[in-house]
Amino acid sequence: MVATLAAALSLAACDSKTATTGEARTTPNAEAMGKTDSAKIDEAAPTSGTAAVAAEEANAKPGPDPSTIPAAKAGDAATIYARPQVPILCYHQIRDWTGRDSKSAKDYIVPIAAFKAQIKMLADSGYHAIQPDQLYAYLTTGAKLPSKPIMLTFDDTDLDQFTIAHPTLAQYGYKGVYFVMTVSLGRPHYMTKDMVKQLSDEGNQIGSHTWDHHNVKKYQGKDWETQIDKPTKTLEEITGKKIKYFAYPFGLWNTQAFPELKQRGFVAAFSLAEKRDQQDPLFTIRRIIASGYWSPRTLHNSIVQSF
Ligand SMILES: [Zn+2]
Repeated sequence: MVATLAAALSLAACDSKTATTGEARTTPNAEAMGKTDSAKIDEAAPTSGTAAVAAEEANAKPGPDPSTIPAAKAGDAATIYARPQVPILCYHQIRDWTGRDSKSAKDYIVPIAAFKAQIKMLADSGYHAIQPDQLYAYLTTGAKLPSKPIMLTFDDTDLDQFTIAHPTLAQYGYKGVYFVMTVSLGRPHYMTKDMVKQLSDEGNQIGSHTWDHHNVKKYQGKDWETQIDKPTKTLEEITGKKIKYFAYPFGLWNTQAFPELKQRGFVAAFSLAEKRDQQDPLFTIRRIIASGYWSPRTLHNSIVQSF
């Protein structure tokens, strides 16, 4: 049972390639895969000395708690929608491929060396990893962000996010955002509650990714309690902090979900590459899946072209 569930969950991943949806959306990688020549990777020297310290400070700045931002200071939907988007990357598993990984699964499984090269490229190119509170303040009030902001998000609670991604990010002073699916906590190949607490204590953001990855568009009756309320309570008990950010399983959403999430205390929600909702851009913040096939240069081109 556990093994079956774990296997199902590990390949459920966040994308909706296999899900049927009427919404206009692009396959996360298709747009970018074919285009490789227009962007140029910055040739910045590796960070060192005072530059590294400055980068670390810019990366670590947490941003104001959304609840402290007066409503009167927040822009309307049109203003928020019009602001330039901050690139946001979505990762799942970070491990070397095996013979059992399907062609399509490899978009969601980034080999360790490829992941390290992608993150190094971001650092060498001068990107600053920001946190959701900073993004929220920027989108709602126009608050200033560090130069070349980017957000690094990790879905589905995979163990390698703690063992591989976390120390790799730390090497560059980067903090991440971890969207946890609470059913998997403590299961083989997934993070434990203690790991999630450590990530939170170190200043990484913990967000909700439901209980067991059911599609938000299909919730009825008690599903909101099972998939949203209980996981929020679990994550708040683990971290001792309010859970304010949500990532849609498979990236799928509908407008009926927005009031449900808002009344449960969420201030923003993250989808995948599809279009944003113009009336509720904070609840359809776009991310792209950083594919396991991508070289650092391809990733850079995708960042430039997708946001
Ligand atoms: Zn997911």
